[in-house]
Amino acid sequence: PPVEYEHLRRRIYSNMKELWYYLQHELGAATAGDAGGERLRDILDEAEERKRSLLSDMEKLPSLDGYQEWREAEAANASDLVQRRLRYLQNPADCANARKLVCNLNKGCGFGCQMHHLVYCLIFAYATERTLIVNSKGWRYNTKGWDYTFYPLSETCTTTFDDKVHPWPAQSEAKVISLPYIDSISRKPQFLPLTVPKDLAARVLKFNGDPAAWWIGQVLKFILRPRPEMQRAINETIAKMNFQRPIVGIHIRRTDKVGAEAAFHHIHEYMKHVKQYYDKLQLSTDVRARRVYIATDDPNALSDARSKYPDYTFHGDPSIAKTAAHRRYTPLSLTGLLVDLQLLSSCDYIVCTFSSQIGRLAYEMMQANRADASNSYFTLDDIYYYGGQNAHNRIAVLPHKGGKHEDISFEVGDFIGVAGNHWNGYGRGTNKKTNQDGLIPWYKTADHLVMYAFPEYKQVPL
Ligand code: GDP
Repeated sequence: PPVEYEHLRRRIYSNMKELWYYLQHELGAATAGDAGGERLRDILDEAEERKRSLLSDMEKLPSLDGYQEWREAEAANASDLVQRRLRYLQNPADCANARKLVCNLNKGCGFGCQMHHLVYCLIFAYATERTLIVNSKGWRYNTKGWDYTFYPLSETCTTTFDDKVHPWPAQSEAKVISLPYIDSISRKPQFLPLTVPKDLAARVLKFNGDPAAWWIGQVLKFILRPRPEMQRAINETIAKMNFQRPIVGIHIRRTDKVGAEAAFHHIHEYMKHVKQYYDKLQLSTDVRARRVYIATDDPNALSDARSKYPDYTFHGDPSIAKTAAHRRYTPLSLTGLLVDLQLLSSCDYIVCTFSSQIGRLAYEMMQANRADASNSYFTLDDIYYYGGQNAHNRIAVLPHKGGKHEDISFEVGDFIGVAGNHWNGYGRGTNKKTNQDGLIPWYKTADHLVMYAFPEYKQVPL
């Protein structure tokens, strides 16, 4: 399919949603209190029905345009190519003489944060053609190390021998380099997220609406390979849960996160989007049961949801949430978390908060187990990002004259650094040309994908 067609199809879908966010917000505010409120609420309900029907029809388009089989095959091939390139990089013929990059897994943070640290290290290794050596002794989730739970990142090359380790930024000739955490890296290389390898991006854009998250998902897929014993333990827990599709996942991150790094979100906020998902699905499928999988670190979330939403069937394991809340950095909590991540990423749709690394991790994993997950989530707060990422811009595709509210002006082609989407038709950003900061009508802008000429690993067949 021509990439312009894919862009247009995605853009129409996204802007239908943006139109709905706008109407819902503006009309919703207008209904509060005044006499005409009831009439406006009726209009809003009618408008929602119309939106649902439009989106449902739009979703059928890819399966009817004759390209879907090709997209699925191309997605599988591209994913396989990345896995083979990483295997090649990680298993050099001559380990003793290979150039290496050393990372320490023991970043003092949660599992999602640590996985994102590893992703950054492996992308760095891929960009600089160095084999990544991971030091994980004394890991907080299992003091015996990474290899006790997961396959190591290399079958043949896991040590730096006695070579001197030079901290980055070192001479590019240095044989062994160690990396700092992404947060403290000075002069960030261009190849760090949300940048995508150029040779892959051209292919990925034809089957996926979010190549940046797709790329991170592929790197994660290589990293996150539980050993058979661990996979068996995960499967045993899952077998008890009666997990069936269609199902919507929700990730409710509470405990230490609330107030410190994110706001508290009530179950209603998640369920509103679950309902929208099922109401839409109902138009094309006979939905027998509205199933919801809850992953959370709040031991009360599951029973709370069950009591408030009797028309939905909730799945989840309260003991996992309890362990996540009280005995977080233990091998047992890791097993529970891996269950949650595997199930969240297997859902048809997830509602989460991208302020949480676990929410983002689940989405990235979804991007690695289907051709395109870019329309399979709703985040209640942040737009998708990667901690420590390079500048993330949108590009204006329609001109806008600001000044009516707090909105800013821009011309077609202007770059706008984005701070977030308010899910009311507007987002916040800074026009890089004028330095003006304020609201932007989201639909007049498009995501700007950054590509970089990574090594192309010609030794690995396409
Ligand atoms: P963030 O703090 O949410 O941004 O993500 P981190 O991964 O850095 O740290 C959160 C930690 O809390 C995770 O690594 C888990 O140990 C735990 N946690 C958070 N949410 C869940 C969940 O839904 N299920 C389970 N089992 N654990 C969770």
